[in-house]
Amino acid sequence: MGRLAQTEGLTEIQQEILSTVRSFVDKEILPVATELEHRDEYPTEIVEGLKELGLFGLMIPEEYGGLGESLLTYALCVEEIARGWMSVSGIINTHFIVAYMLKQHGTQEQKDHFLPKMATGEVRGAFSMSEPGLGSDVSAISSKGVRDGDDGDFVLNGQKMWLTNGGSSTLVAVLCRTDEGHPEDAAPHKSMTTFLVEKEPGFGEVRPGLTIPGKIDKMGYKGVDTTELIMQDLRVPADRVLGGATGRGFYQMMDGVEVGRVNVAARGCGVARRAFELGIDYAQQRHTFGKPIAQHQAIQFRLAEMGTKVEAAHALMVGAARKKDAGQRNDLEAGMAKYLASEYCKEVVEDAFRIHGGYGFSKEYEIERLYREAPMLLIGEGTAEIQKMIVGRRLLEEYRFQG
Ligand SMILES: Cc1cc2nc3c(=O)[nH]c(=O)nc-3n(C[C@H](O)[C@H](O)[C@H](O)COP(=O)(O)OP(=O)(O)OC[C@H]3O[C@@H](n4cnc5c(N)ncnc54)[C@H](O)[C@@H]3O)c2cc1C
Repeated sequence: MGRLAQTEGLTEIQQEILSTVRSFVDKEILPVATELEHRDEYPTEIVEGLKELGLFGLMIPEEYGGLGESLLTYALCVEEIARGWMSVSGIINTHFIVAYMLKQHGTQEQKDHFLPKMATGEVRGAFSMSEPGLGSDVSAISSKGVRDGDDGDFVLNGQKMWLTNGGSSTLVAVLCRTDEGHPEDAAPHKSMTTFLVEKEPGFGEVRPGLTIPGKIDKMGYKGVDTTELIMQDLRVPADRVLGGATGRGFYQMMDGVEVGRVNVAARGCGVARRAFELGIDYAQQRHTFGKPIAQHQAIQFRLAEMGTKVEAAHALMVGAARKKDAGQRNDLEAGMAKYLASEYCKEVVEDAFRIHGGYGFSKEYEIERLYREAPMLLIGEGTAEIQKMIVGRRLLEEYRFQG
């Protein structure tokens, strides 16, 4: 392990977990990642290994069979996994968000029912806000849930887009408009509800009224399945409304996405670190004009910039995770970390690609995969513009003009 991206003040347990994950990444993920990615193949064996390591239950409280670890531990594990292959971190990220939402907002019955099975990875989570017509503007959601009959069941209709783990998951947290309650509660953010939709894994009609059409063919972030979801008179029992009451879905999802942002930042840190490693190795092997290219000052400057970005992004990500773990509001820090880490990741990957010269363009070299993976981080869990809107608003609150 190199000198960059170290984290001070970790407990012995945190260090032990990280070293286990790091050696799993080196032995089980890195040697096969590029080949599986090129074949767009689901990493079944790697997922089984993650289950054995207990990673699906890392942040789930011990009383539900998880390891009860902090957001920081989780984010540092995600950073290591993304260094190996970003798609694998995507497989656990939506699971983690749904488990977190259940832990924070679920009824006791929902926690007892889902969390023990989520801790082992038997139940696997996906979350679904985006629709074909919207991603950033969550308030414009048009999928609807309407109460039907005396039993209070809901009937859901609508189309969702971009579900990470849409095919492989067995539990999807779906955000729909419900428009219940008093007229003064009709504001978009007060009229949405999160439904816990259980389903079979796979594609086609996975439950009466629920279809997962197939995998979206993506530029990168392959291996992990990203899908649409179509609801046609899908019946969901009233006890599968997250938290037991309608109208809270917007806040629940935003809470989930906030910790998700720390995770996307961690993924950016992991991918950038791998790109740095590839770049600095290659620069010492490739010779031009009689010396290794690492001895040309232009390349050294590039490496210096890359290392500085890896270090800065890691520090911001760790700070955002620690703030949440301390029970403090971290929307500002999570927004900054997600924004900076994803932008720096893209830049560091591009720098490593340039260092590789023509070979960076060959599928034989790992940097080619990273080059197609990095852009996803600019979009997922809110684009750069959305992060800047959050950060800008919070700064204006903090630094209100007093004159
Ligand atoms: C691979 C992948 C996996 C995903 N997984 C999931 C998932 O699991 N669950 C889920 O719910 N969603 C998921 N998403 C969806 C993702 O969250 C959205 O794509 C993202 O929020 C952006 O939404 P959009 O694509 O509709 O872009 P739009 O919202 O249409 O934005 C288009 C452009 O306009 C900009 N823009 C929008 N509004 C403003 C504004 N007010 N001011 C300035 N600029 C603005 C955006 O920044 C962007 O550059 C995934 C997406 C991808 C690509």
